Amino acid sequence: MKILVSACLLGINSRYCGGGCLNDHIALLTDTHDLIPVCPEQLGGLPTPRDPDEIREGRVMEKNGHDNTDIFQKGAEETLRLARLLKSDMAILKQNSPSCGSTMIYDGTFSGKKIPGSGITAALLIKNGIRVIGEDSSAAIAELMDDPEKKTLFEQPQD
Ligand code: SF4
Repeated sequence: MKILVSACLLGINSRYCGGGCLNDHIALLTDTHDLIPVCPEQLGGLPTPRDPDEIREGRVMEKNGHDNTDIFQKGAEETLRLARLLKSDMAILKQNSPSCGSTMIYDGTFSGKKIPGSGITAALLIKNGIRVIGEDSSAAIAELMDDPEKKTLFEQPQD
């Protein structure tokens, strides 16, 4: 299966802080699937490192107050374009991000508080029929692993 994956989860240093967040368990899926790393914020044209953004009242705002909604929308559309081009109908995305969060995002106050919600890219992919799961969806990710030994790794909660 071809699966889009948040680039940072595969160890690419694409996060706003200039680092990555390699998830070893998800990286194991390369044994049985084609993983396609994507960073919607970079695809939208933002630099790395960059100021953090959060969604507030439907807009994506930089901590300094700059409105980046159009850039985030562009990144989402480019990610959808890649999914269609490569015929991928599934994505594993980083939770809490204003782009990639699928069920939880930060609340827009830059205080570390999370609320239920979707990032701009996750929402667009879902709207277009692509299955999106967070890296914390252990059971769903376990289903993707053929090797029974590796499957047990996913059956434990992920960071
Ligand atoms: Fe990772 Fe997504 Fe943020 Fe890019 S936009 S750094 S892929 S969480």
